[in-house]
Amino acid sequence: MNIKDYGFDFNKNYENIGTPARITAVHKGRFGIVSDFGEGYAQLKGKEYYHESEMFPTVGDFVLIDHNKDGDSRIIKTLERKTYFSLRDPDKGRGEQVVAANFDYVFIMQSLNHDFNPKRLERYLTAAAQSKAEPVIVLTKADLTDDYLPYIIEASNVAPGVTTCIVSAKTGYGMNELSPYIQKGKTLVLLGSSGVGKSSLINALAGEDIMDTNGIREDDSKGRHTTTHRELIMLQNGAMIIDTPGMRELGMWDVTEGLGNTFADIEELAQHCRFRNCRHENEPGCAVREAIENGTLDASRFESYKKIKTEAKYSCNAADYRRQKELFFKNIAISERKKRKDVY
Ligand code: GDP
Ligand code: ZN
Repeated sequence: MNIKDYGFDFNKNYENIGTPARITAVHKGRFGIVSDFGEGYAQLKGKEYYHESEMFPTVGDFVLIDHNKDGDSRIIKTLERKTYFSLRDPDKGRGEQVVAANFDYVFIMQSLNHDFNPKRLERYLTAAAQSKAEPVIVLTKADLTDDYLPYIIEASNVAPGVTTCIVSAKTGYGMNELSPYIQKGKTLVLLGSSGVGKSSLINALAGEDIMDTNGIREDDSKGRHTTTHRELIMLQNGAMIIDTPGMRELGMWDVTEGLGNTFADIEELAQHCRFRNCRHENEPGCAVREAIENGTLDASRFESYKKIKTEAKYSCNAADYRRQKELFFKNIAISERKKRKDVY
């Protein structure tokens, strides 16, 4: 394993500071990493992160570690980011939560049916420009439409000079158009709302089902998947894809805003379920299931609703992240204070 294969291309020699590594996943208080020593785990090294100016690592970050062959390595420093996406920190005005870093391309995804929306395309393009990576518009589900010329024209009006690719993960149509961006050592991120086909595209590019496309993503909180869970995936040919909960949340802006309106009927029905925390699965007295059974609610609409709800839930992760970060700084502050006391 060579860190250069993971896109490490810093000219500076960091050898006497630490071993370069890349963050492949962020777990609770622990990071999945890859370095010349192979895959492993790392934790933050306390005092170096004492200053708020230090960057809290995110998926895709290049870091310097103090390698430990017997356990978790220590992260000494987060190296400067070439590109990144961030969500605003849940504590407004208090910085930001970086959700992916050091990617080369942003696939701005919309599907060629209901999801196509020039306004949203514009917002994605703005976000991509801020990230400093190269945007590529990827219109998905080509198999669902006969005539996509109007969509291409509309996309090129919104984004002159940006390449638009038309693909179908289902039939494989147009997938070869993506190959200029699927290159060894290059990293890409997918930006698009829920259901647009991000997981399906990842599976198609990987040539195997590594993502669940039934709307329910592997649940990290169950701990069952933590050892295999990756948020930076390397494809067979050495290209990498970053897919983090935060990136998915970023694709959801206007969707969550409109959730109440779009699914007002379902939310209304849910008010009549026997249990307040009804998940509308097998609970007795569920008004939603009843409506599906008697045909007043379309089952597929309910599926979409559930899926979007699942993704909106990721905002909890943002709050969790903030809590961890605060706790982290607090613990360091305490230990620093202790140290000072010892000295004087
Ligand atoms: P994500 O939420 O963006 O990850 O979207 P998924 O990959 O989970 O796809 C959402 C739904 O769209 C699933 O039911 C997929 O089977 C379907 N889908 C994805 N790609 C295609 C495609 O190219 N053609 C068609 N017809 N359906 C697709
Ligand atoms: Zn219910």
